[in-house]
Amino acid sequence: MKLSHDTILYICGSVAVIGILSTSYLLLKTQDQKDTIEGLLQERNVFLQENSRKESALANASTTISEIQRELADVQEDLEDLDDDYRDERSKNGEFEDQLRDLAGTLGDLDKLAKIDEELLQKYSKVYFLNENYTPEKIKQIDEKYILNGKDVAFFHGRAIKHLEDMLKAAARDDIDLKVVSAYRSFDEQTSLKGQFTQVYGSGANTFSADQGYSEHQLGTTLDITTPEVGGTYNSFANSEAYGWLLDNAYKYGFIISYPEGNTFYVFEPWHWRFVGTDLARDLNRSDESFYDMEQREIDEYLLEIFD
Ligand SMILES: [Zn+2]
Repeated sequence: MKLSHDTILYICGSVAVIGILSTSYLLLKTQDQKDTIEGLLQERNVFLQENSRKESALANASTTISEIQRELADVQEDLEDLDDDYRDERSKNGEFEDQLRDLAGTLGDLDKLAKIDEELLQKYSKVYFLNENYTPEKIKQIDEKYILNGKDVAFFHGRAIKHLEDMLKAAARDDIDLKVVSAYRSFDEQTSLKGQFTQVYGSGANTFSADQGYSEHQLGTTLDITTPEVGGTYNSFANSEAYGWLLDNAYKYGFIISYPEGNTFYVFEPWHWRFVGTDLARDLNRSDESFYDMEQREIDEYLLEIFD
């Protein structure tokens, strides 16, 4: 069979077209795959970039966290310092308050002392006695049941009378019948009494030595005491049970005997008792010392507590 020239051309053309088409197809397919791969590569890059961005963000975040932790530690330290400072300050304030309290106490004592009559613990003598114009800050009448029969009403220092009545009550509980002969005496009463002394004893009584306890009576804190049996200010009182009771107990109520037996200061007066406050009376009793043998400056230290 003889193919015509046109047929050969047609066949060759067809083959060429098929070849071209197949090649084109293959080329196109390859291009697609290439595109897909590039797409995938791009995605991978994007993913990697994203990943590294996240990693660096994470690293930043962890740096930030460590910084915050450091700052927190600093703040914690500052807080502790502040707490210490606060404690210091508070303890300083406490000390300051203590000082203020001490100062207030001292001022209170000074104020209290300023209100206490310093004559109340004064020693008197033939040459040193109370001013004639002196009067106690207040006097109160002693309950009449304690006054010796036939004697006038008697008065005692208003701030010491409680101590006196406590003593008289305590004695009564022990069946000791103490009676007041005389207590507060004004200067005028004393002068008239001295007048009587003068009449009895003559010019020898014309000095205050006639009754050295004169000043003490004018203070309002001193009394002459006896029992109905003894009946007055007599030396025989020294033999009474009541006198023994006073020696054993009067100090508990702040009373002392001004002129005890054997004293070198003045004649023995067992009936004459003076209020000097419980602290001083107790200390005198303990040391077996008498008021008039003590130094005035030592005595004065008891003034603040005399009415306590
Ligand atoms: Zn007296």
